Amino acid sequence: MIKNILKSGALLLLAVGMLAACKGKTTTAETENAESVAAKQCPVVFSADSAMAYVEAQCAFGPRVPNSEAHRQCGDYLVNEFRRQGLTVIEQKDDITAWDGKVLHNRNIIASYKPELTERILVCAHWDCRPWADADKDESRHRDPVMGANDGASGVAVLLELGRLLSQIDPKVGVDLICFDSEDYGRPYWAEGGDGSSDWCLGSQYWARRPHVEGYTARYGILLDMVGGEGARFHYEGYSLQYAQPIVGKVWNAAHTAGFGEYFPMRDGGYVTDDHVPLNEIAQIPTIDIIPFSRDAGSSFSPHWHTVNDTPENIAPATLRAVGQTVVQVLWEEQ
Ligand SMILES: [Zn+2]
Repeated sequence: MIKNILKSGALLLLAVGMLAACKGKTTTAETENAESVAAKQCPVVFSADSAMAYVEAQCAFGPRVPNSEAHRQCGDYLVNEFRRQGLTVIEQKDDITAWDGKVLHNRNIIASYKPELTERILVCAHWDCRPWADADKDESRHRDPVMGANDGASGVAVLLELGRLLSQIDPKVGVDLICFDSEDYGRPYWAEGGDGSSDWCLGSQYWARRPHVEGYTARYGILLDMVGGEGARFHYEGYSLQYAQPIVGKVWNAAHTAGFGEYFPMRDGGYVTDDHVPLNEIAQIPTIDIIPFSRDAGSSFSPHWHTVNDTPENIAPATLRAVGQTVVQVLWEEQ
């Protein structure tokens, strides 16, 4: 994804206190707070160890760069794992031409829980890796691929662990876990061509125009991107507030209810062009992005972003758990 046209504080504090809306009650702010504190925690536990094992399993194939053997093998692994969990898997395999004229064998993988239900929630992440570590401190590594333990595998690991838990969570809606491909193929600084933001998020752009089920829609979507960094803090992302403010409120409230409010400060972050943008703008499904924000990291999301050090050793299982348990809470609360 590309980041962070940092905009000033205009969006501050828009998203708090949405609880009344989802409970269908009109209450005073005071009562809302009381309800929020009293809200129950989901008893189903999201396992940090299991999610970490899913990060390692993906990285064991090598960098999952589109058209590579590691990519093909990991795609097969994801399909098999979701099927083993009892989910219904649909694959979208289509050739997409990238900014450099290269044809990418794009593979979007959609794992559905209770596909027969019309009321649905979508949780998604990208599973491909960036071919170029173009933010590495060492310029000689810029054309090496990124392992994508955080930028790719972390979000998918949370989806896999959710897949394992869905029947225990027993949400009252159908759930689609979507692994988008070809997110991170955006043009590196040394190359010509492309037009900037549309170089990225190719798999989600494709899906948003041609979803896996004709006429598909969902109540809302949650995108997970780089959800395993040590000390990560997830602020409100700009496009999420612009298109899906009530969902931002719902998710951040759930994080606090689940006991992980520390990871989810109720503060503005930046704008990030990520897979949620085509979902909002093309598919018109209100979708938020859970993505780390750091004022100190300058143009990057974390010290390892788009470097050769985005490896499993630099993943914090505690962060995977904070994000995973938050999504468990959201799904459990859904009526
Ligand atoms: Zn990336």
